[in-house]
Amino acid sequence: MAAEKLLEEIKNIVREETPFAGIVSGIDFEGPKVVIYCRDLDLLMENGEIIKDLARRIRKRITLRPDPSILTDPEEAKKEIISMIPPEANISEIIFSPDVGEVTIEAEKPGIAIGKGGDLLRQLMRRIRWTPRIVRAPPIESEIVKKIRHSMIKASGERQKIMRKIGRRIHREPKARGDWVRISTLGGAREVGRSCHLLQTPESRVLIDCGINVASDDRAFPHLEAPELRIEELDAVIVSHAHLDHSGFVPYLYKYGYDGPVYCTPPTRDLSVLLQMDYVDIAEREGKPLPYGKRDIKNFVKHVVPLDFGDVTDISPDIRITFHNAGHILGSSIVHIHIGEGLYNVVYTGDLKFDRTRLFSPATCNFPRLETLIIESTYGGAENIQPFRRDAENEFLRIVKETIQRGGKVIVPAFAVGRAQEIMVLLDDCRRLGTLDGFPVYLDGMIWEATAIHTAYPEYLRPGLREQIFRHDENPFLSDMFEQIRDSSHRAEVMDGEPSVIISTAGMMAGGPVIEYFRELAPDPRNTLVFVGYQCEGSLGRRIQKGWREVPLRVENGKREVVKVNMDVKTVEGFSGHSDRTQLINYVRRLSPKPTRILCLHGDDNRPSDLASALHKLFKVETRAPQNLESIRLR
Ligand SMILES: [Zn+2]
Ligand SMILES: [Zn+2]
Repeated sequence: MAAEKLLEEIKNIVREETPFAGIVSGIDFEGPKVVIYCRDLDLLMENGEIIKDLARRIRKRITLRPDPSILTDPEEAKKEIISMIPPEANISEIIFSPDVGEVTIEAEKPGIAIGKGGDLLRQLMRRIRWTPRIVRAPPIESEIVKKIRHSMIKASGERQKIMRKIGRRIHREPKARGDWVRISTLGGAREVGRSCHLLQTPESRVLIDCGINVASDDRAFPHLEAPELRIEELDAVIVSHAHLDHSGFVPYLYKYGYDGPVYCTPPTRDLSVLLQMDYVDIAEREGKPLPYGKRDIKNFVKHVVPLDFGDVTDISPDIRITFHNAGHILGSSIVHIHIGEGLYNVVYTGDLKFDRTRLFSPATCNFPRLETLIIESTYGGAENIQPFRRDAENEFLRIVKETIQRGGKVIVPAFAVGRAQEIMVLLDDCRRLGTLDGFPVYLDGMIWEATAIHTAYPEYLRPGLREQIFRHDENPFLSDMFEQIRDSSHRAEVMDGEPSVIISTAGMMAGGPVIEYFRELAPDPRNTLVFVGYQCEGSLGRRIQKGWREVPLRVENGKREVVKVNMDVKTVEGFSGHSDRTQLINYVRRLSPKPTRILCLHGDDNRPSDLASALHKLFKVETRAPQNLESIRLR
């Protein structure tokens, strides 16, 4: 077996060519990484270069872990940690995971706990023998971040077993011969929602995204019944970002026999859990059939292999992936997929924004190699040119000011993740500049929790905003203009109260508290409903946007009620987290290297084919807009 052979080979190198022979007690896999357990950390840490050489030679990332026999008693270790780390770091929690010899230290200022160049951390490790892992205490407490951190620590023994098994599968002896690559579209082709694609080589099967369409009953789930997909044979699942149309169906895979890894960034993991839990809650409340339960979500979390941007990682014997910034939402990634040793390269954009926003830097467009580009086309149609962000912001601010002046309230339906935070940062910036003041902004639905997750991962935000968050007093999300809605009586108070801005989920009005605000505030012509995000065909938001003045709503006890819309209904284009047509074309123009084939997915109606034909004319490359259930041979 190749995995065992590889471990044996590493052991031989360690024994014969390094000074560590006497101190290494074991070598094993931890997912895609190799872990070396040792009885003496000093010797290893003094010879960092030798370890780096070893990593280069075996082309794996290496993690050092203490052998359980040398660990200091946790109580003693805790005292050492508190005495060694300066109090300014402000430690909020210390948790030990004996199974992996790791101690997680949560601090408000992780930089201080780590010390210059990691000095303090190394000293600490020598003293306590545990591997210290410093994590940031989010400036806004997040239930989800906390729960996930705790459950990961609690399940560390089980996770160790899972990761060893995954490691063995990744490093197995390749069985198949041949050099073809194909992709099957199982969902999200010529539509927005339920994105899911199966990438196959003779050796490997990888699922890229596995989403649901929350706005549809009959086209909600991807075509997992496709004959080429066998859930239990999948090598890996890659999740580009947390939106449910990309992550929402992943727990279902665990319910039906999948026990392999999910690769995604840490914020994608946390935000996915937040959105999946909410999806299950809503379905339960509405009495809809549930494709999976909360247990399956927990199982998904246990199998996540978190990767940061730029980590090059083997996920099967012939596939290596790297995540890059997609600029769309927190943690959103463009996936670079390298197949075989230089055989073929695919870039899957997921959803991308090729423009600077208040939250993120523009999507990455440089890759080491590239043959096929798979790009989203949400705004790929000829008519989908959006105004500049600055103009969109001014238009939004004008609507807000006018509504407030005439004594009205502004409802902004927003996804919990993305637009809500973008609008928050905009409003806070204006308040700081003194151009906007004197009214409160209420946040309802999961927006506050999603915002808290943003503050837990400032390194995924654009540099300026990141620094603002580090300098606590300038953190825009902590601005006192924002207030979270606590419960339904608070909500009623706000609807009765002074002029205000209410940002609430769901973004396409498919449910959530926004419906209550709409029902109550729609008849009053002083109020305004402002759409700042994409309204998918068939959603309630789209109907109102199209100008319906009488809207039937399903209310308590399954009864129906018709709401008269006298309020102003406005759409401000240009806030999207998606690239518009110009930005998509610019993205392809700026891509380096140039692809030889482009597949356009993730767009309603004729938008993918519109984009495909424009890209073909402009760049003289083969382009296609496949339908669901097509298989395309890439090589
Ligand atoms: Zn998205
Ligand atoms: Zn999407």
